[in-house]
Amino acid sequence: MAGCSPEGGSGAADVVVQDRALRGELEQQERVGTAHPRDHARELLTLEARAAEGSAERLEALSLRAALLAQLRDRPGHEAAVEELKQWPDASPVRAQVPLALMLARAQWLKVNGELGAGVRLLAGLKEVDAARADPRLLWRATSLLAYMQGDYGEVDASVESGLKALEIARAMNSPWRISNTDATLSFNYFRSQQFDHAKRTVEEGLAAARQDPDPVLMYSIHTVRGIVYSQDTDDKASQQAREQALRYAREAQAPGLQALALGNLADYELRSGNYPRALELAEQSLTMAREAQEISSEILARHNMGIAKIGMRRLEEGKRDVMQAITVDAQREAGSYTADAWLELGTYLEKVEDLPGAVDAYQRSRKLFDVVLRDETRKAVLEAQARYEDQQRQREIRLLNQDNSLKTEQIRTRDLQLKLWAELGGCVLLSGALLGVAYRRIRRTNAALAQTNESLRVQSERDPLTGLANRRHFQQAIAQMTREQGGLRGSLFLIDIDHFKRINDQWGHAAGDSVLVEVARRLRSVLREQDLVVRWGGEEFLILVKSEDPEDARQLGQRLLDQLGGMPVDHGPLRIPISASIGFASFPMAPQDLLLEWERAIDLVDTVMYMAKAHGRNKAYGVAAMVARDRDQLLALAGRIEAAWHQGQVQLVSLLGPVQEGRA
Ligand code: GH3
Ligand code: MG
Ligand code: MG
Repeated sequence: MAGCSPEGGSGAADVVVQDRALRGELEQQERVGTAHPRDHARELLTLEARAAEGSAERLEALSLRAALLAQLRDRPGHEAAVEELKQWPDASPVRAQVPLALMLARAQWLKVNGELGAGVRLLAGLKEVDAARADPRLLWRATSLLAYMQGDYGEVDASVESGLKALEIARAMNSPWRISNTDATLSFNYFRSQQFDHAKRTVEEGLAAARQDPDPVLMYSIHTVRGIVYSQDTDDKASQQAREQALRYAREAQAPGLQALALGNLADYELRSGNYPRALELAEQSLTMAREAQEISSEILARHNMGIAKIGMRRLEEGKRDVMQAITVDAQREAGSYTADAWLELGTYLEKVEDLPGAVDAYQRSRKLFDVVLRDETRKAVLEAQARYEDQQRQREIRLLNQDNSLKTEQIRTRDLQLKLWAELGGCVLLSGALLGVAYRRIRRTNAALAQTNESLRVQSERDPLTGLANRRHFQQAIAQMTREQGGLRGSLFLIDIDHFKRINDQWGHAAGDSVLVEVARRLRSVLREQDLVVRWGGEEFLILVKSEDPEDARQLGQRLLDQLGGMPVDHGPLRIPISASIGFASFPMAPQDLLLEWERAIDLVDTVMYMAKAHGRNKAYGVAAMVARDRDQLLALAGRIEAAWHQGQVQLVSLLGPVQEGRA
């Protein structure tokens, strides 16, 4: 009988003790392996050899090694590990865990390969796993991974749900480091869904848990997320401190990859605070580390930040060269959305140092790339998602024929399907595999741009629910039809963008921002006539098309729009919120040669001059009165370098000022 108890015969005790030691080593590998994946993959191989064949420990070692091989993007190595799992001996006591281990290993590969949707769908299989019988280590890893991937994929709510499940598992395991790790992911996704209070509370809980059982990699991750979560605060000291802490722990972990990222995040912070020399120093250090770790994406980020810092220090040519170098590498990797973003940021900083022609040029390049990236990638994803959607729809119709479903449940189901469809579109250009916090800023921007493009694909509604204005899709249809009949766009086109709208949101809250949008829509309608087309073009951008082709009419309307929009503050409860807008406009056919443009190109043109109005101080409008061109191609060539063409007298612009604003700089 004694032999049955763990403390029994000495032989049995040896096995248990040895297993426990091995378990401890495995857990250590699990915690810090990602910081030095190559070394740890090797060490795991020896641990695997130490564990008995078919044992739980061997399965764990193999599962952890597969994760590192995925991280290293070692395809043959990873495939071999998956094969080993498939060949797992039937007699093994942990045979029942193998499907879960396989699912996890495959999902890890999909993650690093950027196939987020496929990964999320694969891990949906977790629902079938019996949590009571599953190995909690595997189940926790798989559930956390699902939360992470859902977040990147754009299913933020589902991600929070999975994160909470992972948290439950970690708590049941009584494992502070797992709790902390899960809190980090969860907090990041609360942040992405704009639940900032939740995000902060969760990340602080995560920090407290990490302190119970700290290691540098864990502390690095939790502080990185803190750096992101606190970046929204007006006083972002906390964010800066968190980023510095992250760097400290990355150094302590002696992980060049983590150091490169932490330095990159810090440089980014200093850039935004206008502290260029410090930003340059950090970015240069980041570059060194990125090279050591052979992390190409961190290297690009470092190079880009170095360039921006130099531009800020007015070392213009040198700075542009660095940014261009970063952009070239990104372009070679076909990372188009990053490239577009890089141009956009370059434009913003050139604007700050008053290199306006440079800024306008960068802005135009960014815009063109965004167009290409978003069109290509969304088109592909739309087709795939659409096919799936139709498939489901068909099945549903068959079901409908067979049973008498109530209309109501059917409507709910349709909505669910549509939501799923949009979620799939929402995540389609995000690249995963990056550690938390890498270029998060860029991803967010790309996402915002994508959201707008998706808007144009939305099938059901023709109206924007917030402002009641026509939406982009409706407008595009109307304008496409109109211009088809006329051989190009005729009339006067206005693009209006509210100034510093982000600040309004930051300072007064999102609800106040919404009120401003509603009021702006009302003011626009008040100066327009029934037959004019007005549309909410993007978040805080509006587009107007009026019939009149007369530049003088357009000038007058431009002035009225500026006056109406910026003339008085917007009331939101007790708040009085000062606003203004920047406007670009043009009339077609374009004087003096009466040239027509396709509507897309016409919008590009007003967008460019609107951006000039921004660059030249905001609360302003620029209108294109004439362009000295013989034909459409010449017109487009001038539009491509409008600032210079204006100075050379080939383009005539009218410039209008908005009302003087009290209480605004
Ligand atoms: P600029 O003067 O250069 O135009 O600065 P900006 O802050 O207006 O420019 P940016 O385009 O960076 O910011 C637009 C912001 O509008 C970002 C986004 O969070 C916010 N936004 C977009 N749609 C909505 C919405 O429906 N409601 C609210 N409250 N905010 C929105
Ligand atoms: Mg805008
Ligand atoms: Mg704006």
